[in-house]
Amino acid sequence: MNFLRLGLWLSLLILSGPIQANQGIRVLLPSAEAHFRFAGVYAAYKLGWYQKAHLQVELIHQADVHPVQEVVAARVDFSFMDTRLLWYRLHNKPVVALASIFQRSPYILLGLQHAEKDLALRLQQGHSLPLATDLYPLELALILRQANLLQTLRLEKLQATYQPLSTPGWQALISQQTQVISAWISDAPYRLLQHDAQAQIWQPPALDTPLYADTLFTSERFLQRSPQAVQAFREVTLQGWRYAVANPEQVIDWLLQDAPFLVQRSREHLRYEAQHLIPLMQLGWHEVGETQAKYWAQIAREYQSLGWIQDKNLQALQGFVFSQQTDVEQQIWVRLRPWIFASALGGFLLLLLLLYVLQANYRLRCEMRRRRDVEEALRQQAQSDSLTGIYNRGFFLERCRHQLQAWREQAPKDRLGVLVMVDLDHFKAINDQYGHPVGDEVIKKVAHQLQHALQPPELVGRLGGEEFGLLLSVKNLDEAVRWLHAQQYQLKTDPLQLEGQSITISFSAGMVAVQAQSLANLLKSADDALYQAKRHGRDRVEIFSG
Ligand code: GH3
Ligand code: MG
Ligand code: MG
Repeated sequence: MNFLRLGLWLSLLILSGPIQANQGIRVLLPSAEAHFRFAGVYAAYKLGWYQKAHLQVELIHQADVHPVQEVVAARVDFSFMDTRLLWYRLHNKPVVALASIFQRSPYILLGLQHAEKDLALRLQQGHSLPLATDLYPLELALILRQANLLQTLRLEKLQATYQPLSTPGWQALISQQTQVISAWISDAPYRLLQHDAQAQIWQPPALDTPLYADTLFTSERFLQRSPQAVQAFREVTLQGWRYAVANPEQVIDWLLQDAPFLVQRSREHLRYEAQHLIPLMQLGWHEVGETQAKYWAQIAREYQSLGWIQDKNLQALQGFVFSQQTDVEQQIWVRLRPWIFASALGGFLLLLLLLYVLQANYRLRCEMRRRRDVEEALRQQAQSDSLTGIYNRGFFLERCRHQLQAWREQAPKDRLGVLVMVDLDHFKAINDQYGHPVGDEVIKKVAHQLQHALQPPELVGRLGGEEFGLLLSVKNLDEAVRWLHAQQYQLKTDPLQLEGQSITISFSAGMVAVQAQSLANLLKSADDALYQAKRHGRDRVEIFSG
C-alpha cells in the first residue's frame, strides 16, 4: 500500500473539519413588517455584530408561514415562537429552544370598553380567537381559566361564535364586527387609542414564573451541524436585545430611517410598543433571554392539564432547551478542537512514519534473510558433493588441513588421528550390471553410512568417483581397523535393495596414522595402503607400513 498517498488523503479529510468560513444564516421573523418586537435582532444586525461573529444573516419577514415547519424543513435556520413551540417538540418536531425574549407573554384578549363587560357574554356574541381543535395559545386557556370559563365554555361553543375577519382585528372591533379578538398588548390597544376607542383588556394571570413568548429556536439538525453558529447567533442576538433595551430610541430611529426594516408604524406607535414590550422581557431576577427547562416543564404540565399532551410525550422534553452546560462544553470543545485536530493529525502522521519505517525495516530484513539463504546455498554448493551431500574433495581436504593444524597445536590426549582412503570394489561391474543410476545409489548409500558412523571432529568426504576419504579420531590403529571392518560388515549384511534386487558391495581401505606428515604425504601413504588392499584381494583394510 502506498502509505504516503493514503496519509495525504486522510490529512486533507481531517484538516477540512475545523476550517470555517462566514456562515450564511436565514432568520424568519414571523411578522409581515418590521417593528419593535424584533428590536434586538435589528440592533445586532445594524451594529454589524453578526458579521463580526462570521454570520451572514438574512432577515426574512413573513407572517403567513409556520415557523416550526420552516425551521424543521431547513428553509430557515432560526425563528421565534410562543409556548406552542414546546407542544410541537412534544409531538416529534426536533426543535431546540435557545432563548426566550419575553419572560411574560404580550398575548391579551381585547374588546371595546363601552360594550358588554362580561367576557363570557362577549364570547357568545362573537369573537375571532385562534381556535385550532388540537391547540390554541396557552395564554387563551389561562385567561379563560382565570375567568372560570374553561370548564363551562367548551371549545364547541367558542367555535360556534367564531367570526372570520376580513380586516385587521382592531378594525373589526371598532366596526363592531366582532366582540373579542386576541392581540398583542403592544399593538392593538394603541390602534384603538388612535381611534379614540377605549380598550377592554383581559391578560393571562400574572404568574411569578415565566410564561415565555418569542422563544428563539432552531432545529436539532442545524444545532448538530453548526453548534458554533448557533452559539454565536444566540449570544449576538441577546447582546442586541440588551442594546435595544438600553437604547430603544436608537433602534426606533433605525426602523424609521433605514432599509431593510420596512416599517409601517409611526415613531409614536413604535415607542408605545417599546414601552409595553421591554417590561415583559424582565421578570424578577431572570436574565434577558433566559429560558429554563424547569419552567418549560411547568408549561408542559399546563398543557397536560388541558389534555393536549399525554405522559408519553413528556420524554421529548429532554434536550429541548439549549442548556448553559452544553454552552460551556461547546465553548471548551470549540477552543480545544483545533488543538485536538492538530494533535490527532500529528499523531496520525507520526503513526504513518512509524508504519513506513517498520515496513522498510521489514523489507530490509527479508532481503537480508534472502541473501543469507542464497549465500548459504552457494556455500553448501561449494562445499558439498552434489550426489551424496557429504563434503566434496576440496572442502574435505581443507577441513582436514584445519584439523591437522589443530591437533598439531594441541595434541588430543590418548587420541590418534588416522587418515583413511576407501574405494569400492569392482564398481565398474555394478555400473555395467545395473546401470549408472543404480551405481549412483550405491555411492550414496556408502556415503551416508560412513557419515552417520562418525563423531566430531571426524570427517568424511567424497574424493571422486567411488572413492572416499576419512579422518578418524581413535585410541589406536586397531580401533580404526575394527571400525572399518564394522562398516564392511554392515554393507554386507544390509545390502542395497533396488527393484527387488539385493546389491551387495564391498570396499577396500588403506590407512595411515597421523603424525607430523603433511596432508599430501598422508594422502599418498593412505593411497599406497589402499593399493596394497586391492592387490591383496580387496574387501580388506591395510595399514601403511612405509
Ligand atoms: P577396483 O576394485 O579395482 O576399484 O575396480 P573398479 O571397477 O571399482 O575400478 P575403478 O575404481 O578404477 O573404477 C571406478 C569406476 O567408477 C569408473 C567409473 O565408471 C565409475 N564411476 C566413477 N564416478 C561414478 C559416478 O559418479 N557414478 C557411477 N555410477 N559410476 C561412477
Ligand atoms: Mg576407484
Ligand atoms: Mg573401485
